[in-house]
Amino acid sequence: MPEKGLTIIFTGDGKGKTTAALGQVMRAAGHDLRTCVIQFIKGKWATGEAGIMAKFPGLGELHTMGCGFTWKCAKKDTSDAAAKAWQLAKEKVMSGAYDLVVLDELTYLINYGLLPESEIIALITGRPAQVNLVITGRNASPGLLAAADLVTEMRLLKHPYKKGISARAGIEY
Ligand code: ATP
Ligand code: MG
Repeated sequence: MPEKGLTIIFTGDGKGKTTAALGQVMRAAGHDLRTCVIQFIKGKWATGEAGIMAKFPGLGELHTMGCGFTWKCAKKDTSDAAAKAWQLAKEKVMSGAYDLVVLDELTYLINYGLLPESEIIALITGRPAQVNLVITGRNASPGLLAAADLVTEMRLLKHPYKKGISARAGIEY
């Protein structure tokens, strides 16, 4: 019997949620676990994670499904992209073809009213037993926290953004 997978949440308003999830992918891939990352919010721009996973396919799959940031997208485009990404996430998790699935920025779908929390909890409880799930995003809802095995909150103490230093390639994306 394979070990039962864990549900891991990285939440909070400090930096490091997505990078922690990507670190889990790297570690898992090093043990030949099969990984899949689904990015719910990020659009089609060139992130470092997309670059490295294309160069080293052994790291796993990455699907960037978002329309982009919500304030740059029409409401309809955002909800269509979210629905498509959620459909893909369910397929990937339920396929049993992966040992670790990252649902990056998934919490925003609940927070923006695009997906009921109950759907995510149904996936957590109904997934094939060996699948490890990593969920990231700010303000993870109480039901999600209750359903998880491991929750880490990244707490904002300082961020260069406050000094007017904008996002950089290799650090923020
Ligand atoms: P990262 O992707 O660097 O691990 P994150 O996933 O914790 O960060 P998100 O809330 O997903 O952060 O934010 C998306 C973008 O905003 C990232 O480029 C991130 O580096 C940046 N960011 C994270 N925290 C802050 C903050 N407190 N103030 C401003 N920008 C932030
Ligand atoms: Mg993030």
